[in-house]
Amino acid sequence: MTELSAPSLEHRAPEPDSWVWQLQNTLRTARELDHALSLTPAERAAAERAEQEGFPLAVTPHYLSLVDRSDPNCPIRRQVVPAPAEGNPGRGDLRDPLGEEAHEVAPDLVQRYPDRALLLVSDRCAVYCRFCTRSRMVGAGGGPRSVQRLGPALDYLRAHPEVRDVIVSGGDPLTMKTERLTAILRALRDIPSVETIRLATRVPVALPQRITLELVQALREFHPIWIMTHFNHPRELCPASRAALARLSDHGFPVMNQAVLLRGVNDDPATLTELFRGLVRERVRPYYLLQMDPVRGTSHLRTSVQKGIDIMEALQGRLSGIALPKLIMDTPGGFGKIPLGPDYVLERGGGRTKVRTPRGVIVEYFDPEE
Ligand code: SF4
Repeated sequence: MTELSAPSLEHRAPEPDSWVWQLQNTLRTARELDHALSLTPAERAAAERAEQEGFPLAVTPHYLSLVDRSDPNCPIRRQVVPAPAEGNPGRGDLRDPLGEEAHEVAPDLVQRYPDRALLLVSDRCAVYCRFCTRSRMVGAGGGPRSVQRLGPALDYLRAHPEVRDVIVSGGDPLTMKTERLTAILRALRDIPSVETIRLATRVPVALPQRITLELVQALREFHPIWIMTHFNHPRELCPASRAALARLSDHGFPVMNQAVLLRGVNDDPATLTELFRGLVRERVRPYYLLQMDPVRGTSHLRTSVQKGIDIMEALQGRLSGIALPKLIMDTPGGFGKIPLGPDYVLERGGGRTKVRTPRGVIVEYFDPEE
């Protein structure tokens, strides 16, 4: 369960606009998932395995409502229903692909770059995405943290003023009680060197009803707060999510999207064009398209690197700059992010650069003479 579990609403009429009702009715067992989606026998076995020993299950009624039940390959279903291949080790798979445990500088604080740090404030999420980079710990890592428990992490940030940007993540910080989250934000804001706080959340996608007026009013006290969200498919931009995004923007939160390139979900230019244009319409900047991390047991959801580069080639020139994210590989082992993309430079030398354009025109560029 997330921390936002609420008083029992049994025997009440469905209230899909209420986050309380959404959490109360979240599917968390293989049996519930089977009942809702008529799983295949292989999927049922995979869901039972996940429930018993692996990465837990959770699907909110809201996210379930986006599933096309007539489509066994539905891109929404694929993100949350365990596949029979889940758990099969693939080449290069890692339990902790970004080396976060090796870069833990204090309990629940990961630092992989000099000026940024990642504060893991909870292990709970509204949905458990089958491709999650932190599947090793989400849903099973001790629940939401208190300010007291984060004391050593906060002490580290006080002692390291070079860390200017803190990404509050987990799990999903917006599944915490508002008071618990604001206490953590207040403690961060009391550290003068922390300039930017980012909240990494999939709640606008999976539980948009949680983005209430009360929540945004409580959070805006701690501006500048950036929201890093995670839409992967245009169908996720449904009316409830669009209303949540509008509420965030209207209250001064810049919203950036980090999509993951997922096989059978969004690995084609048409789907991503629709996603990125849809995000821009909602005032969300498509920030990164992430080459999927090699998380153990998820190679059935990964694409080749070349596929991502080909997609970027198709999108370059088709989408305006504000709609075009960077294609990023977070290098396995925790050595940092690098941009990937097609190579447009054909030759370079003697002050002359020969390039090709996305439409295949060859052009020369001359450097200024000394
Ligand atoms: S919401 Fe984020 S942290 Fe939670 S399971 Fe999905 S990808 Fe992982």
